[in-house]
Amino acid sequence: MNGKRYSRQRELIIETLRHTNEHPTAEMLYRWLKPENPSLSLGTVYRNLNLLAEDGVITRMPFPVERYDADTRPHPHFCCDECGAVYDMDLPYDPEMDRKAAETSEHDVTGHQVTFHGVCAKCRQTARQVV
Ligand SMILES: [Zn+2]
Ligand SMILES: [Zn+2]
Repeated sequence: MNGKRYSRQRELIIETLRHTNEHPTAEMLYRWLKPENPSLSLGTVYRNLNLLAEDGVITRMPFPVERYDADTRPHPHFCCDECGAVYDMDLPYDPEMDRKAAETSEHDVTGHQVTFHGVCAKCRQTARQVV
């Protein structure tokens, strides 16, 4: 971080995001934090997430529902079509894609986001148990 000081609730949100790999939605964060922070409102969570995303401290991802990631380095994701869970993928970022995209267009390409789709391991497991 750039030494900027944040309000306590904002720090709490950053810390929570840093300690999860679930890429939570605003509602998930609110549900996790509310029991210990009775004065917290969903509006406050949304406002803080917006500010943090604008500051580049977190990444907002436009999955079916907006999700947030404390890991702002570009990395691919996997989005489960069954349960909507979002996972990090252990694949290297491919700068070659940016180069090719720039080459084949007139745009200044600064990066790309990759999202894989399918059925996550957890859902696949559940489906197997049912059968
Ligand atoms: Zn799933
Ligand atoms: Zn991620």
